Amino acid sequence: MLALATEVLEDWLVEEADDWLRHGNPWEKARPEYMLPVHFYGRVEHTKSGQKWVDTQVVLALPYDTPVPGYMNNTVNTMRLWSARAPNDFNLRDFNVGDYIQAVLDRNLAENISRVLYPNDNFFEGKELRLKQEYFVVAATLQDIIRRFKASKFGSTESVRTIFDSFPDQVAIQLNDTHPALAIPELMRVFVDIEKLPWTKAWDITKQTFAYTNHTVLPEALERWPVDLVEKLLPRHLQIIYEINQRHLDKVAALFPNDLDRLRRMSLIEEGGVKRINMAHLCIIGSHAVNGVAKIHSDIVKTQVFKDFADLEPEKFQNKTNGITPRRWLLLCNPGLAELIAEKIGEDYVKDLSQLIKLHKFVNDDIFIREVSKVKQENKVKFAQFLEKEYKVKINPSSMFDVHVKRIHEYKRQLMNCLHVITLYNRIKRDPMKPFVPRTVVIGGKAAPGYHMAKMIIKLITAVGHVVNNDPVVGNKLKVIFLENYRVSLAEKVIPATDLSEQISTAGTEASGTGNMKFMLNGALTIGTMDGANVEMAEEAGEENLFIFGMRIQDVAELDKKGYNAQEYYDKLPELKQAIDQIKSGFFSPTQPDLFNEVTNMLFHHDRFKVFADYEAYVKCQDKVSQLYMNAKEWTKLVIRNIAASGKFSSDRTIKEYARDIWNVEPSDTKIPPPNEPRDVADKNSSCTTGILKM
Ligand SMILES: *Cc1c(COP(=O)(O)O)cnc(C)c1O
Repeated sequence: MLALATEVLEDWLVEEADDWLRHGNPWEKARPEYMLPVHFYGRVEHTKSGQKWVDTQVVLALPYDTPVPGYMNNTVNTMRLWSARAPNDFNLRDFNVGDYIQAVLDRNLAENISRVLYPNDNFFEGKELRLKQEYFVVAATLQDIIRRFKASKFGSTESVRTIFDSFPDQVAIQLNDTHPALAIPELMRVFVDIEKLPWTKAWDITKQTFAYTNHTVLPEALERWPVDLVEKLLPRHLQIIYEINQRHLDKVAALFPNDLDRLRRMSLIEEGGVKRINMAHLCIIGSHAVNGVAKIHSDIVKTQVFKDFADLEPEKFQNKTNGITPRRWLLLCNPGLAELIAEKIGEDYVKDLSQLIKLHKFVNDDIFIREVSKVKQENKVKFAQFLEKEYKVKINPSSMFDVHVKRIHEYKRQLMNCLHVITLYNRIKRDPMKPFVPRTVVIGGKAAPGYHMAKMIIKLITAVGHVVNNDPVVGNKLKVIFLENYRVSLAEKVIPATDLSEQISTAGTEASGTGNMKFMLNGALTIGTMDGANVEMAEEAGEENLFIFGMRIQDVAELDKKGYNAQEYYDKLPELKQAIDQIKSGFFSPTQPDLFNEVTNMLFHHDRFKVFADYEAYVKCQDKVSQLYMNAKEWTKLVIRNIAASGKFSSDRTIKEYARDIWNVEPSDTKIPPPNEPRDVADKNSSCTTGILKM
């Protein structure tokens, strides 16, 4: 499947296709023996023995297996991905066999399903091909799961009616966002139409099997598929969704009589304009557990966005704070720091990151402080060399590396960072002799191809860069670099070299963030809002060891109530006024003075993320950052306190919590089986210890 790659050409972000499979992939193995059919379109026939989905178009799902080895725990799991293949008789059984050549060319139509990954971040685009992709992987995976479940029961004397009772004991399906939400009506279809289970039994098993993780509360990101599209592509699934909805609303009506508005709010079907299916509502109803990905986000999910559902089933709602793997995000990307930590506290922290707390003992150890600072300096020099070699840009390795890398999105407020850069530039120009703490501001990230404002933000950053980087008065004090094609392999290079991590989303918009955790573990200090996992990072390290600024969620809510007026801040804050006036007057785009009018217009008149409201607190907080950076020893003490407090943010901890609180499984590395002892592969608590699973 093609992925998005980007480059900057003449300061504009342009798209490329990352054809990462062009030269093959040695880690994966095709498993044609487990190929499965997936059906689309057709119609529903009412028969004496129930509903039948007929006259469908079939696409084959070809599995590819990739082994996923655990870190020194004697376990190798299998990741199974699916590729779309046209059946050999595709379009050749119909009346149009006369055009044999065209029919063969049309095989592409079916195979297009797995051709390209949609590149949006936190944005829903209701395209038919995307819906096909979502159903394709869901239908193939569920068939595969059910086949393996049945194989595990082979030879059992259980009756067909009760054989699925143990399904939730052996299978847990975590819906990672709503993208696989169709798995819920699909499992119901298999149980009711094919296995002939009664509806209530099928629904009970389905609910016990699924759990749902919510990843965002931004309304434009929530999947709401038009009913007409689902009816055309998956007519039987639409009927099942209607039935689920009817029973759900009956239950709500019984519990909350005479509350029509509640029924409207809680329906799976949104009326008014085009009828749409609210996929988050479907996931919540069809799951036994629902979680957000950081405390603050889970609170918003439970008390605001899905409050009605929490009123109905409060026990369903949980939190599972995200984490990152310390193997990739420390050992692999920052061997110098990993080694230094191991010298102080031993190597066990690699599998139990909470042990990093032992570093606290060394916060005032001058030798350790110097060593931590030296590793950072080495990483910075290495990154500067990489930038010079690959991109011909020279940066000053003794300046503060101030890094803002993540997808480009208005809510992540790269614009606020940009306004700070302009403010620093203006200060240097106003008083060139005044002492200045040198900074290299690195901003990087992909914009979704259709996200115009995101591309304008990149254009502005690069335009500001041209002015700042080429002004002799500024010299080595300030540089602005836009990092092209930001991706994991680039993150692994820039994060270990970072001094200051920018995590400045408007409070209440970033569900968790994981970039924030990667920086913390790699010895960067955070400048951030009380949003996402930043809140818990501050809780773990002590708020005084991060640079926390700006509105809290309550402040944002109050401002919303009062009405946000950007003009007020512009009138009140001279440095903000100067920066905005420069952008507006074409100071950064002299050949096209009105180039950024839509950006400034947005900031004044429809900025949902209130950049101006946090600007003053942000700039003041940045001044404190510069102050501390001048004192290398005190800076590094904060760095050490942060690393010591980052243990919570291991994905090992996150996964253990999912296993214990949602999947009801035991960690498998606690009981390593003797060699050659066969294990029950369909048991959800087991995994293969020797390689790719046989089935
Ligand atoms: C970790 C990571 C992200 C997520 O970053 P956030 O700051 O949490 O948005 C995005 N892209 C890449 C390449 C990453 O490694």
